[in-house]
Amino acid sequence: MFKLVQLPYAMEALEPVISAETVSFHHGKHLQAYVDNLNKLLIGSGFEGLSLVDIVRQAPAGAVFNNAGQILNHEMYFTQFKLASEAAQGPSGALAAQIEKQWGSFEAFKTEFETKGVGLFGSGWVWLSADADGFLVITQEQGASNPVVKGLKPLLTFDVWEHAYYLDYQNRRAAHLSALWQIVDWKVVEGRFG
Ligand code: MN
Repeated sequence: MFKLVQLPYAMEALEPVISAETVSFHHGKHLQAYVDNLNKLLIGSGFEGLSLVDIVRQAPAGAVFNNAGQILNHEMYFTQFKLASEAAQGPSGALAAQIEKQWGSFEAFKTEFETKGVGLFGSGWVWLSADADGFLVITQEQGASNPVVKGLKPLLTFDVWEHAYYLDYQNRRAAHLSALWQIVDWKVVEGRFG
């Protein structure tokens, strides 16, 4: 049985970047529904007892994959944020060095990440991941998919499903994505890289 991941902050902690109302619906309704759906779907599926990552890697396209993928995506999403007043405004250490090496600057990296998020047609996720050699890559993942399907190690993600921003930003996806940098917990992201 999978459980709803606990938020490492209060519902209102991410305001004004993400409102308490959005966090409440996104975590308490959308993510809870994926958890409830997957727990029902797993019974007799042959995937019982596997980790989320293994289910996402192994399940064929369909309901098990979609619900497991959305749980994995949202667990990584919700646990990578913190209060803007306490968040470092960029990475440090090995991750910062690798971004600098590949993009030339953190600003150039952010621009590509936002552009790929804005350009993703429909619902999905934009991800920063690392390959087996520690080389970084930004990918667009449709629907419920996750970079683990491509053999990548996922590090950071922005949710571009409308439910992630519509209450606060309506159709302004670009404004939402550019605001999210203020609340990224880079220590968490660096921990995933290391
Ligand atoms: Mn979402």
